[in-house]
Amino acid sequence: MITRDFPLMLGGLASLFGGRSSRFGTLIFHRVVPEPDPLQPGEICAAQFDELIGVLVRHFNILSAEDAIEAWQAGKLPPRTLVITFDDGYADNFTIAYPILRKHGVRALFFIASGYLDGGVMFNDAVIETVRRTELNELDLEWMGLGRYALSTVAQRRTLIQALLQRIKYLSLDGRREALERLLEEAGAALPADLMLTTGQLCGLFGGGMAIGGHTTHHPILAVLDEDQAMDEVVGNRQQLTDLLGEAPRFFAYPNGKPGADYTAQNVRMIERAGYEAAFTTSWGSVGRETGIYELPRFTPWEREPGRFCLRLAQNFLRVNAPQLAIPALA
Ligand SMILES: [Zn+2]
Repeated sequence: MITRDFPLMLGGLASLFGGRSSRFGTLIFHRVVPEPDPLQPGEICAAQFDELIGVLVRHFNILSAEDAIEAWQAGKLPPRTLVITFDDGYADNFTIAYPILRKHGVRALFFIASGYLDGGVMFNDAVIETVRRTELNELDLEWMGLGRYALSTVAQRRTLIQALLQRIKYLSLDGRREALERLLEEAGAALPADLMLTTGQLCGLFGGGMAIGGHTTHHPILAVLDEDQAMDEVVGNRQQLTDLLGEAPRFFAYPNGKPGADYTAQNVRMIERAGYEAAFTTSWGSVGRETGIYELPRFTPWEREPGRFCLRLAQNFLRVNAPQLAIPALA
C-alpha cells in the first residue's frame, strides 16, 4: 500500500530533481514471480511489480535505454529520467513482466545470457531449485568445504542456498559445472526446463517493442576468465542474439556487474571492441556527465512498498557514479 504522506514526499522529490537534467537512473530486475517465493524473498511478485510500475510511471520519466542515452549525450534529459532493465532472460520476463510493462506503456531493456535460452538453468537457479526440490532432510557438503546442513525448515534451506551461492559463484565455468553435477546427484533432485525464455518468447519481447541486450553466453564472472574465454563469451552471445533477432544488440550488461571483482578494465575495452555502444554495471548511483558510457551504474531498492522504493531511488539519484575503471567519461 502507498503511504499517506507519499504525495508529499514525491512533491519534495519533484522540486529536488526538477532541474537535474544531466542524470538518469537505471533499475535492474531479474525475475518477476507469480506469487511471493519464501525461498527467494528478494524476488518481486506480479502484484508488487504492477503496483510499483504504476507508481513509477506517474512520478518518473521512464524512457527506453536508447532514448535515455541519446538524450543524456545531447544534454537533453528530462528530469527524473528512469530506465528499466532486466538481467539474464527468465521466462517470467515474457509471461509476467511483459504484459504489465505493456499495460503501463513502458519499454524495458532485457539483457540475455543466451546459452540458457530454451530450457537452460543458470548456476544460481540450479542451486535454488536443487535445494527446493530435494527430499532429503540433511545434506553433507564436506566435499565442498561447507559441512553438514539440516533442511527441515524454509529458513534452513535459505541458509544453505546462500552458502552454496557464495561457494560456487567465483569458481571457473568447469568448476561450477562439476560442483553442480555432484550437488544435484547427492540431493537426488531434477531441474526444471522452463525457467528461462524460449527463443519464441525472446522474439515476442523484441517484436513487442522491448529492447534486447547482451549479457554473455553463460554468465561467467568475466574477471576470472582469460582474455580468449571472455571474448568468446561476449562475441558468441552477441552473434547468437544477432542471428535470432536480425539485428545486433546495442547494449551490454556485465554479469554480476561489480567493477574490479566481476569485470576488469580489459573487459571494458573488450565490450567496446565487440561493437557495443554502451554497457551497464551493478554499481550504485546515477548516470551523470562524468559517467563512462561503458560503465553505466544501475540500482534497485530492496524496499517493496512503492513510497519507500521511490525515496531510496531518489537517494540513488543524488550520487553520480564516476568512471570506475579505464574508459574516459563522455564529456
Ligand atoms: Zn545476470
